Amino acid sequence: AVCYSTAIANAEEYMKYKDPKQPINKRIRDLMERMTLEEKIGQMTQIERTVAADHVLKKYSIGSILSGGGSVPASHASAETWIDMVNHFQKNALMQRLGIPMIYAIDAVHGNNNVYKATIFPHNVGLGATRDPELVKRIGAATALEVRATGIPYAFAPCIAVCRDPRWGRCYESYSEDPKVVRSMTEIIPGLQGDIPAGSPKGVPYVGGPDKVMACAKHYVGDGGTVKGINENNTIASWHELLGIHMPAYYDSVIKGVSTVMVSYSSWNGVKMHANRDLITGFLKKAQRFRGFVITDWQAIDKMTTPPHANYTYSIETSINAGIDMVMVPYNYTEFIDGLTYLVNNNFVSMSRIDDAVKRILRVKFTMGLFENPMADYSMAKHLGSQENREVAREAVRKSLVLLKNGKSGDKPLLPLPKKASRILVAGTHANDIGNQCGGWTIEWHGKSGNTTAGTTILSAVRNAVDPETTVSFRVDPDPEFVKSGKFEYAVVVVGEVPYSETYGDNLNLTLPDPGYGIINNVCSSVKCVVVLVTGRPVVIEPYLGGMDAVVAAWLPGSEGQGVADVLFGDYGFTGKLPITWFKNVDQLPMNFGDPHYDPLFPFGYGLTTEPVKAN
Ligand code: BGC
Repeated sequence: AVCYSTAIANAEEYMKYKDPKQPINKRIRDLMERMTLEEKIGQMTQIERTVAADHVLKKYSIGSILSGGGSVPASHASAETWIDMVNHFQKNALMQRLGIPMIYAIDAVHGNNNVYKATIFPHNVGLGATRDPELVKRIGAATALEVRATGIPYAFAPCIAVCRDPRWGRCYESYSEDPKVVRSMTEIIPGLQGDIPAGSPKGVPYVGGPDKVMACAKHYVGDGGTVKGINENNTIASWHELLGIHMPAYYDSVIKGVSTVMVSYSSWNGVKMHANRDLITGFLKKAQRFRGFVITDWQAIDKMTTPPHANYTYSIETSINAGIDMVMVPYNYTEFIDGLTYLVNNNFVSMSRIDDAVKRILRVKFTMGLFENPMADYSMAKHLGSQENREVAREAVRKSLVLLKNGKSGDKPLLPLPKKASRILVAGTHANDIGNQCGGWTIEWHGKSGNTTAGTTILSAVRNAVDPETTVSFRVDPDPEFVKSGKFEYAVVVVGEVPYSETYGDNLNLTLPDPGYGIINNVCSSVKCVVVLVTGRPVVIEPYLGGMDAVVAAWLPGSEGQGVADVLFGDYGFTGKLPITWFKNVDQLPMNFGDPHYDPLFPFGYGLTTEPVKAN
């Protein structure tokens, strides 16, 4: 009798959605039939880790949790500490009625950059300079490993903005001003997620396994085209320009099976993107047949009104009806959940709209195997900051360097530098500073100068590269007498921008912060010098150009400074090409190649080359 009743109980407990042998569509349908409105809305809600208390996860069926900006479980947390945290959240999420796993998300925009000791790859502008999509795909694969090393299955990357104005504080998150270059770099998506299986229907999201992560093409659409590069502002563009400049990389992302798309804070011709039903539902979901899910940006629906949060119910209604599936709330989740519940119960938002959103979210969760393997695997931890990944980053640094000048006119080229020299001076605010080298979105949201994480500074890289007999002296801002009397054969001056992110980086002047130009003048007036610029974008250099013997744009190279020395000392040649026009003065901006009065200091695509030197 005991056996008989157990058999009945088991039969009753069979739940199709839990059966991995069932096709995904059937699993989704079965699960959705069981879900209440409250559970569906929970799936559409993404909250910040600091508010994801145990009882919240057990109660609301919260669909997703994120680390916003540099939100970390503990300063210098190890990979295992991250996994502990993610698994703790997952355990609580699984305790709700239907046991639907949550997805954890992080801004891994140049490697798993919030995480101490992760490999930090060059920011996108530098990757654009490589013109090497195959390399960028490998960076995607390495990033996926480092994100999974911390137990996380979802990266808010890539940013496929087309930066049309370097005054924009996010220009470095863009691969290029050229839509073709940006398109080619969507190869990072199969790197992060894996290659979609042959014959997959168009637009179906794909995540290839436990060593891959969900990607997020952002910020849809036109984020890089705002007036004067003002962040989150208005992009004034014809339909033709929108389709020709800002949209193409989204076509490629959808074809490559991107799991999610994040909507931009910005507006298009005065309409907030988060309210744009034509572009989200009409163009992305219907015309492009995108079947992953659409997520808001951080508190973006609050920002649909001026002042923010002025009419939250209106903002929820408008954004959900525009086609948004998941809302990065990220704190006031009860207000969001109550608001959306009210809107559905009063027919301001239809049940079919909710079902569309939930279906998309569940599809990604089933596809990536989260129901079968919800808990993160500690054996992945070894990938964080691994030697293999650092080698990929170092290669990217080498290929990202753009040589703008090599020798004063009439002189012979200064680069590559000889490894055997009597005395070399290394100078500048960015020569011995990992934080400056990495830029924004590193350990903290805005990044930070100083010894913030593991890596090789350019100074150490120079010391490693030169002959043991060569003396390398270092001063941040050397005394002019010291420079004159020091009998240096040549100098490497490393100056640049201090780290910033988003609106904090908007800058109408684009000059180097002090004492940048002072150091250049002081050193280059008495010693043959190569100036290495560590910046997220072109900056004002025209008035100083005549005084510098050689100039290298190194962008924001990340943790592997050795890649800079590899090329300066000729182990490899310079090959990088400008991903963005280098202006003479800011009054020319915006200025992009193809413009009628194009008169740059260095045009888009510019970059001198050098040959590698054997036995230097
Ligand atoms: C940024 C996004 C980012 C999100 C989550 C926002 O401020 O615009 O790019 O993914 O924060 O941290």
